[in-house]
Amino acid sequence: MRKRLSLRELYRASTYELEWEPTYVKKEEAFPYHEYEGIKVTDWGKWEDPFRMTHEAYVKLQAEKDKIFYSVLDSFAQTQSFLNLSDGRYVNALKLFFTGVTPLEYMAHRGHALVSRAFPSSRIGFSAFCQSLDELRHTQTQLHTASLYNQYFHGLHSIRRMHDRVWYLSVPKSYFDDAHTGGPFEYMTAISFSFEYALTNLLFVPFMSGAGYNNDQPTVNFGFSAQSDEARHMTLGASFIRFVLEQHEDNLPIVQEWLEKWMWRGYRVTLLAGVLMDYFLPKKLMSWKEALELYFEQQVVNGLMRDLEPYGVKPLKSAEYALKEVLTAVHDVYWVLFSFTHAAAFHTWIPDEEHLDWLCEKYPDTFPQHYRPRWEKVREMREKNGVRFYYPGLPQLCTVCQFPVLFVNPDDPRKFVFRYSVYRGEIYHFCSDFCKWIFDREPEKYIQSWLPVHEIYAGRCGGPTVADVLAWYGFEGDNMDYFESEDYRNWVEWHKAATA
Ligand code: FE
Ligand code: ZN
Repeated sequence: MRKRLSLRELYRASTYELEWEPTYVKKEEAFPYHEYEGIKVTDWGKWEDPFRMTHEAYVKLQAEKDKIFYSVLDSFAQTQSFLNLSDGRYVNALKLFFTGVTPLEYMAHRGHALVSRAFPSSRIGFSAFCQSLDELRHTQTQLHTASLYNQYFHGLHSIRRMHDRVWYLSVPKSYFDDAHTGGPFEYMTAISFSFEYALTNLLFVPFMSGAGYNNDQPTVNFGFSAQSDEARHMTLGASFIRFVLEQHEDNLPIVQEWLEKWMWRGYRVTLLAGVLMDYFLPKKLMSWKEALELYFEQQVVNGLMRDLEPYGVKPLKSAEYALKEVLTAVHDVYWVLFSFTHAAAFHTWIPDEEHLDWLCEKYPDTFPQHYRPRWEKVREMREKNGVRFYYPGLPQLCTVCQFPVLFVNPDDPRKFVFRYSVYRGEIYHFCSDFCKWIFDREPEKYIQSWLPVHEIYAGRCGGPTVADVLAWYGFEGDNMDYFESEDYRNWVEWHKAATA
C-alpha cells in the first residue's frame, strides 16, 4: 500500500521542483519569453510562495465560497431587494464598474495564465495559475451579479461589446492591454505589484463599503468573495518584486521605471473609483481625497514603497503628483462624464445643493472657487431655459492613458495640462508629464494605440453621426441625464407601486 503524503510533502510533490532539463528542445525554446525584457535571474529556486496551498485545498475552498456567494445572490433576486437600494442613481456606479472593471478581471485571468507558463519556475507557475483561476471566478460572480441588475436597469446588456468599443472604457481596457503586451516581468510589476499589492485597496475597499452603505448586498457579496483571494494575490506581487530586486543589481533601474509607469497608469484608472465616491454614490461614504490619503499616501507612499527603499528603490514622482492632483482631478473627470453623457452607457446628474455643500467641505481649497460656480451655471441653464448641458464635440484623448485631455494644473486650476510629442512627423497628445514620459520611452508601442475618438473620425465606428456611433456601441436608451431616463421613471413607478 502507498503511504499517504503529509500536506507539506503533497505540496512539494505537486507544485515544487517540477522543473526538468528538457532534452529534445533547448531551454530557451521551452521558455522563450523570460529574457528579452532585460531582467536577470540567477536562481529561480529562491522564490518561495508563502501560501503553500495544494491544488486540492484550493479547489475545495473556492467551491465553498461559490456556494455561499450564489445562495446570497439567489435570495436577493427572489425578494426583489434591489428596490431597497438607497436610490436608483446608485446603479450608475455599478454600470461603470461592470463595464469598466469586470472585463479586466477576465484580462487578469489571461495574463496570469500567460505568466504561469512563461517563467521557468513551478512555484511562480502554480501561484500565478491559482490567481488565473481566481480571476475567472471573479469575472463570473460579477457577470452573474450584473445579470441580476440587467433585468431592471439600462446599461448592462452588452458589457463585452461596450468594453471593446465605448470611448471612456478604453481607459481601463488600454491599461490591461499595455500590461499584457509588455512581457511577463513587466506584467507582474504592473498587475501583481502595482495593481494588486498597491492599488487594490484604493479601488475595491471604498467601492465595496459604498455598496454596503447603499444597500447593494450582491456587490458586497462578490466583493467579499473576491477580497478573500486578494491576500494571496498581494503576497504574490510583494514576494515577486523582492525576488526580482534581490536577484541582480541590474534589475533595479528597470524596475524603478516600471514602478513609476505602472503606479501612474494605475492611479489614472482608479480615478473612476473616485467618481463613484464623490459623485455616483447617493449616500456618501468618504471623499476620494480621504480615500487617496488613507489607501495611497499612508499605505503605499509612506508604507510599502518605503519597504522597498533598502533595495535602492526611490520615491515615485508620479505618486507625489497624484497626491497634489487629488484637489482637482476627480471633479474634472466627472465634469467630462457629465458633459458627454449623451454618448455614455450610464446616467449623470447635476449635483444638488446639499451635494455641492459636501464637495465644498471636502475640497475647501478648490471646489468653492473653481467648480461650484460652473455647476450653479449649469443648473441655472436647466431651470431657466430648460437646457441640459451636453458638449457637442468629441474630446482630445491622451495617447497613453486614453482619458480625454481634461486635467487641470492643481497649482493653477484655470489652466489645462496639455502635452505633446512629435514622433516620425506625427503629433501625439498627452494629459500629463507622466503620460508623455511613458510615450517617449516606448513610442513604437503607443503609436499603435486604438484611440476611440480617432477611430470615430476615421469612420471606423459605425458611421459619421452620433446616432451611428451609439448604434455601433449597442446602446438602447442607456445614455442621457438620469432625470431624463427610463431608469428614473421606472424607479419612481416601482416605489409608488411598492408603497400603494
Ligand atoms: Fe480579481
Ligand atoms: Zn494620460
